[in-house]
Amino acid sequence: MMLAVVLARAGVGVTVLEKHDDFLRDFRGDTVHASTLTLLDELGLGHRFSAMPHRVVERVTVPVGSGTSLVVDFGLLPGPHKHIAMVPQWDLLDLLADAGRREPSFTLRMGVEVTGLLREHGRVVGVRYHDAGGSDGELRAAVTVACDGRTSAVRAASGLRVREFGVPLDIWWFRLPRGQVGLQGLNGRVGNGALLVMIDRGSYFQLGYQIPKGSDVQLRAEGIEAFHARVAALAPEFAESIGAVDSWDDVRLLAVRLDRMPRWFGPGLLCIGDAAHAMSPVGGVGINLAIQDAVAAARYLAAPLRRGEVRLGDLARVQVRRWTPTFVTQSVQQLLHRLVFQPVLAGGLGPDGSGRDRPSRFVRLLRRFPRLQAIPAYMVAIGALPEHAPSFARRSWSS
Ligand SMILES: Cc1cc2nc3c(=O)[nH]c(=O)nc-3n(C[C@H](O)[C@H](O)[C@H](O)COP(=O)(O)OP(=O)(O)OC[C@H]3O[C@@H](n4cnc5c(N)ncnc54)[C@H](O)[C@@H]3O)c2cc1C
Repeated sequence: MMLAVVLARAGVGVTVLEKHDDFLRDFRGDTVHASTLTLLDELGLGHRFSAMPHRVVERVTVPVGSGTSLVVDFGLLPGPHKHIAMVPQWDLLDLLADAGRREPSFTLRMGVEVTGLLREHGRVVGVRYHDAGGSDGELRAAVTVACDGRTSAVRAASGLRVREFGVPLDIWWFRLPRGQVGLQGLNGRVGNGALLVMIDRGSYFQLGYQIPKGSDVQLRAEGIEAFHARVAALAPEFAESIGAVDSWDDVRLLAVRLDRMPRWFGPGLLCIGDAAHAMSPVGGVGINLAIQDAVAAARYLAAPLRRGEVRLGDLARVQVRRWTPTFVTQSVQQLLHRLVFQPVLAGGLGPDGSGRDRPSRFVRLLRRFPRLQAIPAYMVAIGALPEHAPSFARRSWSS
């Protein structure tokens, strides 16, 4: 959606195909990072974002060992946004869709699922789709961009290679009513071989309970009461309301994956976001990375698309630009899988990180020199190599 808005502002004809009829998926993640907030300002959408109901996270506490915690303080960030915002992703997508509809060259088709690629003379020239009315169709395009997430059908149809990295966790994803629970923003608890993330969505909480990879079937066999007890042990404030999840149908398994394509493009085709590099939820950075990819893609492709001549080199420039931030971010996620999530899931890291002999040297350094905490804050909230809106897409807030 971000790519489409920016390209449409360059006057490029762009069609977004979204397989669902609306954006109301509850498993997208809720974080809007400082660099995305800056981007929204540059696009003239910051004031509309601020007017949407959202919550602000100014610091996050991470268990690091020896019974102590590391505070990631976003107040140390440079720039106007010293926080991350929490907003259900459908609200952000609606905002961007609305901005896109103001451009005459923008088309959004909901309920249209891409089912395959059209090829001519070894080049991708568009997609096949199946729409909500039950009809099949074809859409031709100068460039097809796969933005269809970590189970990308377009990537699968492309025949391009994917490199998989192992991950130690999967996630149970479920909701609980707010009731009298006073938690706000983003909260996490560690213990009993699990990590629980609680996302405040106003009238209810979205919860993510992390389980060892591949253990879903075995844990479900223990029964829903065992699940209730697990959650209540980590978050006693939900002990009463956990009964609202009265069957496993209410608990969705999200299979986590971490992968990356060695090559994100081919003639007429580009993959970005999770389609090019599926992100683990660790650090909550995948949305930001996908948005940054989109902005870079729009910047490099707008002029060739307007000229009607997109070369392989234009598509390659997007990957060249975005490969390093992707590699760095995924490497940090892999490190955190090893240093934090594996010990937690093995039951070796208790609440507040107790159970590990001593915090790592890096963490000890951060605690000794608190200004260095700007590094993890920057990595999460801004990320490596943040992108800015190209001049043709910028608008003042009143336009
Ligand atoms: C449990 C979990 C929690 C996470 N939490 C966070 C978080 O809090 N913060 C964060 O930054 N990241 C989080 N992530 C990572 C984040 O969700 C992804 O990195 C990010 O959503 C990638 O964005 P994307 O646009 O590439 O793909 P997606 O957000 O997956 O979007 C893909 C879109 O394509 C559509 N689509 C799929 N197939 C087709 C098709 N065949 N035809 C047409 N449309 C199709 C989908 O409906 C969807 O709208 C989380 C990941 C997981 C697994």
